[in-house]
Amino acid sequence: MARKTKYIFVVGGVMSGVGKGVASSSIGKILESRGLSVTAVKIDPYVNVDAGTMNPTEHGEVFVLDDGMECDQDMGNYERFLDRDLDRQNYMTTGSVYLSVIRKERNLEYDGKFVSVVPYIPLEVISKIETAAEKDKADIVIVEIGGTVGEYENILFLEAVRMLKIKCKDDMALILVSFLPALGVGGTELKTKPTQHAVRSVNAVGLQPDIVIARASVPIDEKRKEKIAFHCSVRPEDVISAPDVSNIYEVPLNFEKDNLGDILLQKLNLEGKRRGMEEWEKFMQKVREASISVRIGIVGKYFDTGNFLLSDSYISVIESLKHAAYALNRKPVIEWLNAEQFDPDKKEFKENLKSLESFDGILIPGGFGSRGVAGKIEAIRHCREHNIPYLGLCYGMQLAVIEYARNVAGMKDAHTTEVDKKTSHPVIDILPEQKKLMEEKNYGGTMRLGAYPAMLKKGTIAHDAYKKTYNLQLSTNNLISERHRHRYEVNPEYIKKLEEKGLVFSASSPDGRLMEIAELPKETHPFFLGTQFHPEFKSRPLRPHPLFLEFIKSATTSKSG
Ligand code: GLN
Repeated sequence: MARKTKYIFVVGGVMSGVGKGVASSSIGKILESRGLSVTAVKIDPYVNVDAGTMNPTEHGEVFVLDDGMECDQDMGNYERFLDRDLDRQNYMTTGSVYLSVIRKERNLEYDGKFVSVVPYIPLEVISKIETAAEKDKADIVIVEIGGTVGEYENILFLEAVRMLKIKCKDDMALILVSFLPALGVGGTELKTKPTQHAVRSVNAVGLQPDIVIARASVPIDEKRKEKIAFHCSVRPEDVISAPDVSNIYEVPLNFEKDNLGDILLQKLNLEGKRRGMEEWEKFMQKVREASISVRIGIVGKYFDTGNFLLSDSYISVIESLKHAAYALNRKPVIEWLNAEQFDPDKKEFKENLKSLESFDGILIPGGFGSRGVAGKIEAIRHCREHNIPYLGLCYGMQLAVIEYARNVAGMKDAHTTEVDKKTSHPVIDILPEQKKLMEEKNYGGTMRLGAYPAMLKKGTIAHDAYKKTYNLQLSTNNLISERHRHRYEVNPEYIKKLEEKGLVFSASSPDGRLMEIAELPKETHPFFLGTQFHPEFKSRPLRPHPLFLEFIKSATTSKSG
């Protein structure tokens, strides 16, 4: 093997939520722009084997990969920054590592040995990282270890780093993402002591950070850099300033201001090109210059948790809206609308519905269960009847089909069997094969997950949109590939009936059985489209998703009335 893989480990100090994911993604972006092949691995220290069974209000969005892996939202950040598709080998949790070791033990793969936690768990971690590196043919693997140094949860992962270091001492760098709290009037006095303690915790597990990324509300000055350097045994130039940013895509450029790319190449004995982030800089220029806003309302149900968590639950949707808006030189303004305010049981629901007309576009994202459904259906009806651009994602598509069945096709109690098992018009239902799976095992893994091909119908909004973006791929077979995460489907028995009433199914599974996109013709509505899949998992900063682009385009041109 000619290629020698280099490893960059990213760990967090002081507290959680300081942006290790964005830092790791940005490091990846910087190195990729130097002409190197970069991949990423995320380690989550929880026992869940994947993120599929977690409530988004607990842990933020569940991100889905092409191969159906349900994982942490950081994987979305890696894909967006690196513009690279990852798979299940790029993700592990404490649960998944133990599961592999236990399976091997049951398979007699340890030759009758006594399988102790150390070294076998860290060795399994190393083997998973090496497998990902090999699979992605990467020059550099960035491995982000979740949690904060000094806690029990990630200790075995840090032990894996220590063990790996024995064999690849000069091919590895350890980065600590730390936080400097601000004291004093106006919060200008940045304190370095917590960072010093964090480095001590790293030292206690036999490791020494090579670089400290210092997160703070403002850029850190030379004095602070020198202080961290002196107390934490790094050079002042190895302390990288990471101030708060209004846009996460600014972070790679900020890191390069402190020469992080050059420092890493030097530490890893790698040759790379000169900086080459022109395209990214051009994109950021657009972000900074966008002054005309496009106002999008997202109708959802996670509202008792505060706006911060809300944006965490829908991060890919928000990022996709941003990518499309920036590409069209618009400043995205996103507002959260509680679905329950549109429920006909609510006294002021009519006035609330009227307020939708002030938006340039309305989006309903994926969801599960019955809460907020009545309100969402009313909101969709209002968008349809008042020419407000509407984009529905997964549940947002299913509910649009239900609304159409009820109010246009005259099926008064049309519903999804997810909410109403006894409806006389189950326009959204579980297909027999899925039902069987649910009876066999009643947990997360029963969904249709990951990438499936879909065939576009010519002459539709969807076909036009994809054609503009991916002309070549489409010219042969009209096939696209999109990621899924759902159990229910448009009931095949209703397809014809709905089509006769004017609803267009503009994409389906190649065998024509599963409906993938529903839309209204251009002549009847400026933009009314729903996808059974999740296009938000495939949008990238420099390659916005065609359907988001089309949605924002219509939102910027057709003012509702
Ligand atoms: N609850 C719906 C289903 O399971 C939609 C899922 C989603 O929006 N991701 O089919």
